[in-house]
Amino acid sequence: MTINKKATLVGGGIGTLAAAAFLIRDGGVEGRNITILEALPVMGGSLDAGGTAALGYSLRGGRMLTTDNYECTWDLFRTIPSLNAPGSTVFEETLEFNERHHTNALARLVDRRAAKVGVPSMGFSMQDRIELLKLSSAEESDLGSSRITDHLSPTFFETEFWFMWATTFAFQPWHSAVEFKRYLHRFMLEFTRIDTLAGVKRTVFNQYESMVLPLQAWLKSQGVNFVPDCNVTELVPRSEIDEFEVAAVKCIRKAISETIAIGEGDLVFLQNASMTDASSLGSMSAAPSLKTKADSGGWLLWEQLAASRPEFGKPSAFNSNVAQSCWESFTVTLKDSEFFDTMMDFTGNVAGTGGLVTFKDSNWLMSVVLARQPHFVDQPGDVQVFWGYGLFPDRIGNFVPKPMSACNGDEILTELYGHLRFDRDPLQSANCIPCRMPYITSMFMPRSAGDRPLPVPKNSKNFAFVSQFVEIPEDVVFTVEYSVRAAQTAVYQLLKLTRPVTPIAPHDKSLHVWFEALLKSFK
Ligand SMILES: Cc1cc2nc3c(=O)[nH]c(=O)nc-3n(C[C@H](O)[C@H](O)[C@H](O)COP(=O)(O)OP(=O)(O)OC[C@H]3O[C@@H](n4cnc5c(N)ncnc54)[C@H](O)[C@@H]3O)c2cc1C
Repeated sequence: MTINKKATLVGGGIGTLAAAAFLIRDGGVEGRNITILEALPVMGGSLDAGGTAALGYSLRGGRMLTTDNYECTWDLFRTIPSLNAPGSTVFEETLEFNERHHTNALARLVDRRAAKVGVPSMGFSMQDRIELLKLSSAEESDLGSSRITDHLSPTFFETEFWFMWATTFAFQPWHSAVEFKRYLHRFMLEFTRIDTLAGVKRTVFNQYESMVLPLQAWLKSQGVNFVPDCNVTELVPRSEIDEFEVAAVKCIRKAISETIAIGEGDLVFLQNASMTDASSLGSMSAAPSLKTKADSGGWLLWEQLAASRPEFGKPSAFNSNVAQSCWESFTVTLKDSEFFDTMMDFTGNVAGTGGLVTFKDSNWLMSVVLARQPHFVDQPGDVQVFWGYGLFPDRIGNFVPKPMSACNGDEILTELYGHLRFDRDPLQSANCIPCRMPYITSMFMPRSAGDRPLPVPKNSKNFAFVSQFVEIPEDVVFTVEYSVRAAQTAVYQLLKLTRPVTPIAPHDKSLHVWFEALLKSFK
């Protein structure tokens, strides 16, 4: 059954692409009645990947997924055809790939002597265990806007568990205690296998090519209109009464101002802000430029809307402290196999099976991941690509006397080779492209109830938020799943569908899982 509604979606990340798919698949909205407006030249938002073997590949992030969680994501991708495996859906293709290539990290942590750190125990003291248990059973209302450090003693942040958990999920000690608690529950199955990352699932290629492009191709086949290079500057309400209904969308498209009228009963979805807003790329010879939201204007629309409506949240809780939300990633393109061969020899993992290798004593808290090759669809057979990141880009390196944020790609490689104690062949043609992301962990900043709007805020008539900055009980941010869950929730609520949003798997409600986790904490 089709319904006669139009939908305008602001932002072209996985959140709105998913919303468009749910509108069509479950809501009966016709694809030709859906328009997606994106400020950037391509769709996909943070799930980007690009470049060439000649100029160097680049991706802001490499993603770990699971099939024990990510319920809404797989619900969606179970119905999206793969572009690379004819006859399979994206879900089937991903599952089949992971059956062939299991993650089982043999070198999860490496110390200052370039030695693999065996992880026979989580490293907890009895006090750490008690504090962790207390935090994981606390009520969110009691935790309020407190930080992780308000609940756990300094020794906890020196445990093997913290190094593994923090670098798997990108937590900092000063982040939200509520979010950390949610992660302990949501990823309780990962607690017992955090040393091997055995629960992690990967896509066949990078997530832009394995998730965004197939989804976009399906949406295109349904008639969805994509409008890149279109910056939305204002949502005009129909009237200033209590109920919020968008009457028009103002935007700047290729430097020309436009106003798009929204008909009565039609819908508007907004991606309020982005974790990769104001990100910048460097090169082998230049560090990334130091941008903030003032350079991009990416947070402006949410700030404008929230200024007069408390139910639209409080962006300043998330975007006011770049020093606490910034880190840097890098993508390396190699044209000979020496690095991969030496790494595989050192770690004992074939590329694609090792997960993260974290240099736990490195000042930048640096990690690298060697994905299964090729990682890009057009990647030549003699080229390898790997990705890495540093959680503390403001610190001076151990081998380079500069903060990571001031380093070019060549200096980042010097630091990496230093930690590995690998000889660096000066003739080797490595191309390392750094990427600075000032708001990358902005979603993890301490927040109070109400700082994030509901996907469909109170009194909204035709308007929903779809992003990492909405409130969804129990689920965790910094995941693809959160954006897709927000999309499903928003679409189902605005269309008043009876199909329920895919429920969160209740692993943390299982006594067996708690017992396993408790047992592991004593190892
Ligand atoms: C380095 C890194 C590592 C990650 N690791 C993982 C992982 O291991 N596992 C996992 O599940 N997830 C991971 N993620 C998170 C995941 O990629 C994101 O949660 C997800 O992609 C966010 O999607 P989104 O659609 O909500 O937002 P985004 O992808 O940020 O998209 C928002 C889009 O909206 C656009 N926009 C905003 N305002 C406007 C406007 N006014 N006008 C026009 N356009 C606008 C922006 O340009 C942007 O393209 C990682 C992300 C990064 C960057």
